[in-house]
Amino acid sequence: MIGALEAGGTKMVCAVGTEDGKILEQVSIPTTTPGETMPQILGYFKGKDIRALGVGTFGPVGVRPGTPEYGFILDTPKLDWRHFDLLGSLAPLGVPMGLDTDVNASCLGEMTYGCAAGLESVIYITIGTGVGLGAAVEGKLLHGMLHPEAGHILLSRHQKEWQNGCCPYHQNCLEGYVSGPAIEKRWGKKAADLADNPTVWAMESYYIAQALADFILTLSPQKIILGGGVMKQEQLFPLIREKTLAFLGGYLHTMELEDIDNYIVPASLGGDQGIMGCIKLGLGALGE
Ligand SMILES: [Zn+2]
Repeated sequence: MIGALEAGGTKMVCAVGTEDGKILEQVSIPTTTPGETMPQILGYFKGKDIRALGVGTFGPVGVRPGTPEYGFILDTPKLDWRHFDLLGSLAPLGVPMGLDTDVNASCLGEMTYGCAAGLESVIYITIGTGVGLGAAVEGKLLHGMLHPEAGHILLSRHQKEWQNGCCPYHQNCLEGYVSGPAIEKRWGKKAADLADNPTVWAMESYYIAQALADFILTLSPQKIILGGGVMKQEQLFPLIREKTLAFLGGYLHTMELEDIDNYIVPASLGGDQGIMGCIKLGLGALGE
């Protein structure tokens, strides 16, 4: 049995599963303050007889083992969690632990148990309350100096755009233009209530496709997986595929791009890609 913790800004999903990625049991604990939330998480895992724990967490977070900030939440806008030693607070469980970002965990979940099995270079993008990118390059999850924060890449404005994005740091970044809150700011309604308004999705797909073209040109992924609440609007997929190819302008010729319907795809694990990726992170901590 392996423990899995998907630490999110609103809830903490705790689960136990087996090494083939099967989730046996799962609970959700509200994310309030570390003082309230952590004892509940420890309480859940104590007595579960887990051999290891994998943690996928919201960030920014220190993901490089051996550095002083490894396992610490960094400069999050959630003030109660800022500079909190997440991994250290789980040490009383006394098992080996692996930790990465929530989006890297989802990427790993899809590469281990889902639609990207057998591939080595994959990106996973979540578009919901925020926008995050997890990436594996040549079989290794990408960290670098911190970890990718590709939700904040800068984009050119759609010609009909009339306002800045909703990101407090950037006027024209991906998250500021396409996240759930960005849609609500621009159109005054939630994404789910705008499903039949084609103008909304034309603009949304314009920004997402622009970002994907940039990711394709820099990271050269073999597959792009899109998840998160906004991507439940399935009408986005054909629009994004068509516009991504248009932005690439015929410059690249690969087998993958020729089969664009199998290249830019929805998450395949029914919302469990994150928690299943955490199982794999736990296995990694055991050297398996
Ligand atoms: Zn931004």
